[in-house]
Amino acid sequence: MSKTNEAALRREMVETCRKMNSTGINQGTAGNLSMRLDADSFLITPSSLPYENMKPADIMKMWMDGTFEGKHRPSSEWRFHRDILRHREDINCVLHCHSIYATTLAVHHKTIPSFHYMTGVAGGTTIRCARYATFGTQELSDAAIEALDGRLACLLGQHGQISLGKSFASALWLAIEVETISRMYVQALTLGEPPILSDGEMARVIGQMQRMSYGQMPEGEGANDVARPRTAKKAAAKKIAAKKAPARKTAARKPAARPAGRKRG
Ligand SMILES: [Zn+2]
Repeated sequence: MSKTNEAALRREMVETCRKMNSTGINQGTAGNLSMRLDADSFLITPSSLPYENMKPADIMKMWMDGTFEGKHRPSSEWRFHRDILRHREDINCVLHCHSIYATTLAVHHKTIPSFHYMTGVAGGTTIRCARYATFGTQELSDAAIEALDGRLACLLGQHGQISLGKSFASALWLAIEVETISRMYVQALTLGEPPILSDGEMARVIGQMQRMSYGQMPEGEGANDVARPRTAKKAAAKKIAAKKAPARKTAARKPAARPAGRKRG
């Protein structure tokens, strides 16, 4: 990791922390954020420093052996950040916060079921809730890694949520989604335990989401057409055809009996 890239990531980390505040998912200094630099090191937010005062130089650098460098102490949750980055080569960013609705479910140790198809954004049919363990401990880190197996997000029992991503933007997006889904679930529960979508349907949903993440349109069996970009070639061919047949164009216009106010075409 070059110094320039590291400097850019430090700035992006500060911006993301500010967004955690402005979107309302962060509570006080409870949140923390990390980003992989390379196989052996990562950046992490400092402990107890309010995000509004944080500067890129305040961000701590840590190594996988637990050593750190910087002006402050690393987040008290550095252990699960380190362990998740070490275990999960598919992601680079770990975001943790005590967002209100996700934490509301977490204090009841509720796993979020597929009551809504968006539960699939975390990569599976559920968003699990990890068993409770004291903050900052190895037990909490172990519980988080277990709950995150095959998932990009989890709740932490009587604590909060963790969301993962390849980038700051994707981890932040997911954390906000987890909070939104949690809010919907809390509200749905006021009318009783809602019905859940089958595993088969959720597999289809996750397939659609994966297609979209690769820049493709969602498609499904039974679709009789697909939305597609209008190509320049087709538009040009249409223009040529219109020029070649002016008579037909006029003829087509003449008997223009049509409901008032409705545009042709
Ligand atoms: Zn926490």
